[in-house]
Amino acid sequence: MARRLNAVFFDRDGVLMEDRHYLADPEGVLLIPGARALIGRLVASGAKQFIVTNQSGVARGLLSIAAVDAVHQRLFADLGGNPFAGVAVCPHHPQGSVAVYAVACDCRKPAPGMVLGFLRQFGLDPAACCLVGDKESDVAAAEAAGIHGFRFDGGNLDDWFARTVLADGGFALDE
Ligand SMILES: [Mg+2]
Ligand SMILES: [Zn+2]
Repeated sequence: MARRLNAVFFDRDGVLMEDRHYLADPEGVLLIPGARALIGRLVASGAKQFIVTNQSGVARGLLSIAAVDAVHQRLFADLGGNPFAGVAVCPHHPQGSVAVYAVACDCRKPAPGMVLGFLRQFGLDPAACCLVGDKESDVAAAEAAGIHGFRFDGGNLDDWFARTVLADGGFALDE
């Protein structure tokens, strides 16, 4: 019996778009192959979608919050519109150079704060949610939040999702 998938939490860099470390320029946004197709598939199913992204470049003084937002606007445009019910950014890093962000927080993955915040805000059943990330810290954040974490290992994201999350992972989308 497949588990219904009501919401997907996406890591941003290396999953939805290529990981350009500390990207501040929207011109640098490059979608991962299959990302737009997968987003469309999830929109059609009615599953909620979220971004949960560590952006320690803010704490390191390498990017501004405004630059992160500008990158997101480009990402949304490239995806054909903003499909996300919520976008959470952790701007912190304990060794940062910008004092206000140089803190040990509960949102920087592998901590589960960003995921837990959306689970609570939207009243989501953790058993009907999953997270897709490209690092072990993403999977750890998912597990700490009580949801299933899958590690994307490259290639076409839509094909990978169909194989790894739906077929092998046992989740099902509403048609
Ligand atoms: Mg990543
Ligand atoms: Zn944080």
